[in-house]
Amino acid sequence: MATTWITDATCLTHEDGGWISARRSIEIASGRIVALHHYTPYIAPEDEVIVGTGLLAIPGLVNAHTHSPDNLLRGSAPQLPLELWSLHSAAGREGRTPRQCYISAALGGIEMLRTGTTALLDHVRISPELDGACLDAIAQAYLDLGLRAVVAPIVADRPVASTLPLDSDDLRDLDLSAYGMRALLPASEQIAIAEAFVERWHGCEQRIMAGIGPSAPQRCSDDLLIGAAALAARHSLILHLHALETRAQQIMGHRLYGKGTVAHLDDLGLLGPKTNLAHAIWIEGDDLDRIARTDTAIIHNPVSNARLGSGFCPLADYLERGIRVGLGTDSACCNDSNNLFETTKWAGLLHNPVRPHARWLGAAAALRLATQGSADAIGLGSSVGNLAPGQSADITMLRLDTPAFTPLNDVVRQLVLSENGSSVVHVVVAGETVLRGGVCTRLNESAIWEEAQEYAARQHLANCQIQANARKLAAPIEAMFARIGRDRSTSQ
Ligand SMILES: [Zn+2]
Repeated sequence: MATTWITDATCLTHEDGGWISARRSIEIASGRIVALHHYTPYIAPEDEVIVGTGLLAIPGLVNAHTHSPDNLLRGSAPQLPLELWSLHSAAGREGRTPRQCYISAALGGIEMLRTGTTALLDHVRISPELDGACLDAIAQAYLDLGLRAVVAPIVADRPVASTLPLDSDDLRDLDLSAYGMRALLPASEQIAIAEAFVERWHGCEQRIMAGIGPSAPQRCSDDLLIGAAALAARHSLILHLHALETRAQQIMGHRLYGKGTVAHLDDLGLLGPKTNLAHAIWIEGDDLDRIARTDTAIIHNPVSNARLGSGFCPLADYLERGIRVGLGTDSACCNDSNNLFETTKWAGLLHNPVRPHARWLGAAAALRLATQGSADAIGLGSSVGNLAPGQSADITMLRLDTPAFTPLNDVVRQLVLSENGSSVVHVVVAGETVLRGGVCTRLNESAIWEEAQEYAARQHLANCQIQANARKLAAPIEAMFARIGRDRSTSQ
């Protein structure tokens, strides 16, 4: 089998607890890194060569939390708290065809490749009902682009209005049958659809993995949560769910369970090394102990947390307890991008004003979270997240003759604080060049954009009635906010 070479690049590797940059030539065979050579050895005529002179080679970034259906909704939702924002986003993504799901996933996939992300976890909500053909289309989009992806179908079986700590008075005289209280597919049926997807796709071409993604504890019956955990155990999948994203969710957990949400998940047996809690802002009591003891991973989404005003994730507490943390952009409707450079910078800086200097994250640690941290959290950790012999050859290459790196003083600091993805020029996934000269090699980008624009215009018209039905919940939610407050004083 032919070898691929990245010759004479400045390579950023993580060794002995720190980042090291040095000129190396990377030898790649069968999708894996064979060696990083000090000198360029003999290159056979049939070998593929990427000239790395003047380029920086880093481990591909890993986006541990996004939602592909929202890529068609980029910029469409006003800046609102999660519960009100959801009325816009949920209505906006209803009734998609498989082709629209494909285009929406491809949009985010192209953006991720162009900004140096080589692997992702897609927490996929298909509305109004989970649909196998739509899931297939999304997995196919990632396969077509050459990305490495964990596709975790969202399951949920509690109607929206019953997931919020509303008072009965708040809902009086409202007909919510078309949105807030409509019936959903039974838990067993959703698990069956998800399991069929797992059987079709898990491990496909060693790039597509399946996961299972209960939307959030308060949005699922205990039967559904237990069914999802059993499915994950049967196939050794990542169990990925939102948890304690907002103050309202914290309150709702106590209403439903008579205890904290994390305690409930722990008692149900849902925490563990293959479980991801996305956001995990409003933890309380002994939640940290439970998360640490079970080796559960946290996915930190700093841009989304700020966009939705959800709160400050206690990131320093997690890291100081040795809890595994990955980074996610969250959706293109609440960020509004899939650019992990941006998220990494936010993770590195957002907490500084509310945290003593000794507890600041710093650029090197932020970059580690965006690579090995995220890869480990979403189940890719043993082979993705570093440039080292034996690792999958998932490599992002950036030009060094750009504003972000000129003059070159500190590679890591400039990667995290100066770079925004615009220096990315080539991306290799599993040894194959899937972005060359800033352009995807496997899909026609402009055809995808054209189709996306067409769908967005049509979707806007088609969803007017759904939006009107969803907005009936706005006044009750505003009343709920007035009652419970949304603020948190933080002592990080
Ligand atoms: Zn999310």
